[in-house]
Amino acid sequence: MSLLEVKNLSVEFDTPDGQVRAVQDVSFSLGEQKTLAIVGESGSGKSQTAFSIMGLLASNGRVTGSVKFDGTEILNASEKVMNTYRAAQIAMIFQDPMTSLNPFVRVSKQMAEVLMLHKGLSKTDAIKDSIRMLDAVKIPDPARRVHMYPHEFSGGMRQRVMIAMSLLCHPRLVIADEPTTALDVTVQAQIMDLLSDLQNDFGMSIVLITHDLGVVKGSCENTLVLYGGRVMETGPTSELFAEPTHPYTRGLLHAVPRLESNEAKLATIPGNPPNMQHPPKGCAFSPRCGYANDRCIAEKPRLEQFAADRSRTCHLSSEEFA
Ligand code: SF4
Repeated sequence: MSLLEVKNLSVEFDTPDGQVRAVQDVSFSLGEQKTLAIVGESGSGKSQTAFSIMGLLASNGRVTGSVKFDGTEILNASEKVMNTYRAAQIAMIFQDPMTSLNPFVRVSKQMAEVLMLHKGLSKTDAIKDSIRMLDAVKIPDPARRVHMYPHEFSGGMRQRVMIAMSLLCHPRLVIADEPTTALDVTVQAQIMDLLSDLQNDFGMSIVLITHDLGVVKGSCENTLVLYGGRVMETGPTSELFAEPTHPYTRGLLHAVPRLESNEAKLATIPGNPPNMQHPPKGCAFSPRCGYANDRCIAEKPRLEQFAADRSRTCHLSSEEFA
């Protein structure tokens, strides 16, 4: 049985300008100690997928489908039930630690409160555990630094504090939402290595949400590519990198900077992501796709499996696309 099973997840928002369908029919599963990357540009629906799993959608959001954690349905569960899962079983790492860490409260107090609330530890034991966790995420001199304020840490160190906080209760699933986006490339690589080491040490599963395929290679067994709220392509990461079968995946891969490239300009996908209030009638990617034909403009393609563990949403067959 999978640790996380998401089926036909759809998310809609009521806005003053009408309804926005942010996520449509997204399904995936994740095994114990495995890592899945959810990749897409901003507005693709990846963060709303994560918020739905955590029960953290904005109040104007409506979610349908199914999210099973360890076999138990948790989608649309009550706040009381979700509070027993959050931190203790499922934790989230956010892009910007300063939005989740309280800048006016010492790290020791913020970390200890999590352990006192979810594990019933005394304050002394909670601070000892917090120091151990800061040490695990390689914060130097953790016994002294635990008493510092978040703004006294550098960007990379703050992200480590955030990761330490998310792992305090040893959750079985960590959802990392763009955990390295605000950091420079060297620190990004250090944080990804750290997450991988921590996964080996603590045995958690990870959903890594990112717009950057460059951080996915080598760290995630499987990848799911989202565009316009729909799954465009999914499969084992190594196969998807070696042989992308969807024009959008290929575009994302071309946009990953390469050291060996002699190109003066970084490749980009022309055009912009769709306006989800007025999405294209046919394939959401059709206005930007070099392969688009009349059928693509008129009719939405369906997600179809074309090989073991691989699916794609495109009217062109994988052979035609190759
Ligand atoms: Fe491009 Fe058509 Fe495939 Fe959409 S369905 S990705 S427009 S070829």
